[in-house]
Amino acid sequence: MRYSILFSFAFQIITLVGSAQNLEPGMHEHNLDHHTQCITSEERESVKLQNAKNRKLIGDQTKNKSAMVLFDWPVAQNPAFDYNSTFAISNYVDHDPSFPNNLLDYDCGNHTYDTNSGYNHQGIDIFLWPFDHNQVAADQTYAVAAAPGVILNKADGNIDNNCSFNSMPANFVIVEHSDGSESWYWHLKNGSVTTKAIGASVVVGEYLGVVASSGNSTGPHLHFECFDSNGNLIDPYAGNCNSMNSASFWNNQKPYWEPTINTILTHSAPPSLQACPNMDITNISTSFNQGQTMYLAAYFHDQVSTKTTNLKITYPNGANLWTWTVTPSSNFRAAYWWWPFTIPSAAPNGRYTFEAELDGDIVTRDFTVGISCPPDYSGPNMLTGTQSTNADFETNGVIQSTQKIDANVDYDSATHIDLLQGFEVYTGRVFQAFIDGCGNLLRRETSSESEEK
Ligand SMILES: [Zn+2]
Repeated sequence: MRYSILFSFAFQIITLVGSAQNLEPGMHEHNLDHHTQCITSEERESVKLQNAKNRKLIGDQTKNKSAMVLFDWPVAQNPAFDYNSTFAISNYVDHDPSFPNNLLDYDCGNHTYDTNSGYNHQGIDIFLWPFDHNQVAADQTYAVAAAPGVILNKADGNIDNNCSFNSMPANFVIVEHSDGSESWYWHLKNGSVTTKAIGASVVVGEYLGVVASSGNSTGPHLHFECFDSNGNLIDPYAGNCNSMNSASFWNNQKPYWEPTINTILTHSAPPSLQACPNMDITNISTSFNQGQTMYLAAYFHDQVSTKTTNLKITYPNGANLWTWTVTPSSNFRAAYWWWPFTIPSAAPNGRYTFEAELDGDIVTRDFTVGISCPPDYSGPNMLTGTQSTNADFETNGVIQSTQKIDANVDYDSATHIDLLQGFEVYTGRVFQAFIDGCGNLLRRETSSESEEK
């Protein structure tokens, strides 16, 4: 069970201060080398045997073999979060049967892999970006049914933070569609797999589990693998080098490069990515003071050298405080950029906006200047354990909690509060959550609650 609360804000009108600054930006390509056999041969054989058994139990679900079922995108964001996108693609299906290192994806590129032992990648690897392990901990990205169908097979209860080759089983779901085709969803989070029974129906877009790193996996990603109505492996992408099927299995096939701003964030220090399986140190902050150096960061998937992103920060009255652009020198499947910016000493108090525009798509992020309070605690803003004394946890950043509340407790975040699986309030105790800029009531709250198993 988890509750999340989303808020939006009111804002204030303030006057303009000019500014120009030298940049010392940081830029990093982020590549996850998911070059292990996502489903080991042993696991595949045992899963296929289970599939056959399950098919006997639930009966033949094929309604019309010739009415080809098309897929929607198999990944969706938990509605409690506000990234524009939460993933990037590291590998497509390998269409070159020779090996090793004979790589050919559907678009005749080499965004795929094979192994020395002759495995050619059979699916699409969709990895979490940015902050992969943080996303897993917060249940930020879901695997969802790409098309309606019935659950043919599933597994849960397996370790979900693997970082290297192993022979451990994955948490997974397999959906069989009305034409007899199958979609496979691998590497899900322990305890997150849908509670629906084998044989139960699912609708398109329905939650199947949280994307994580169970099974033979080197980091959090969804391995999405598909078979047609005759049980043949297919690549859902139509393309010149797809040797398996000529038609696309997608309702709306995404382009090979899909330049996208995944999110923009404001930080008190540059984000620090950590090695698997550690959570990244995000240093996210949305509350700053005059004279403070803040870090503005943009996170992309499929950032390409032919596209310029326009960025700006605006005063509370909407006037530009600073505008700049970024164009990468080459194409990146995942990349992030950050820029330091020292807030002018004469900048008025209020709510500012950071905005990025790419190809007409606009992503925004609000932050405050001069309306802040010091956090009561430091480190990753994750509260754990049993809280048995009365307390008020205030922070400029995000609060995430798995606490068991056995006292009277307030949470007060300037931005976002996430009550994760494990969070509970004992009978007779009072728990309150505030999103009010640390005691200065700044925003009108429009809260929506969502609950998932
Ligand atoms: Zn894979």
